[in-house]
Amino acid sequence: MSDLNELYQEIILDHNKRPRNYRKLAAASKAEGHNPMCGDRVTVYVKEKDGRIEDVAFEGLGCAISTASASIMTERLKGRTVAEADTLFRRFQDMVTGKLLPGDRDGSGLDALEAFQHLSDYPMRVKCATLPWHTMKAALGDRDGAESSR
Ligand code: ZN
Repeated sequence: MSDLNELYQEIILDHNKRPRNYRKLAAASKAEGHNPMCGDRVTVYVKEKDGRIEDVAFEGLGCAISTASASIMTERLKGRTVAEADTLFRRFQDMVTGKLLPGDRDGSGLDALEAFQHLSDYPMRVKCATLPWHTMKAALGDRDGAESSR
């Protein structure tokens, strides 16, 4: 189990050091999120077409957990449908709040996101991990974004 914890730790540190999809997306819907508990700030850009997420990226300043969560999120959501993104978000949220137990995770598709599973022991940090996801949802709901106003 401790080997696994080390692996999870490494995943988070790696994504924090080299965040994937850390860039601005032109002509995308965007939303800004802020977690006052920790000071994390994130901007999420989403390009959605016909219910599918064509591209997703983020920028921002936050702790290792929020940055790694945003980075892994963008990797996992690219090419997925909005419905799949919703499902994954729900499972992720259930996991970090301790509602989705390890035995129920088979076929959950969480994979690298399981690196955050121990956050259920640190309720203060749960918001760091879910902030990018909430912000992504807000961006998807942003129908007045650059894309649709053209
Ligand atoms: Zn944080």
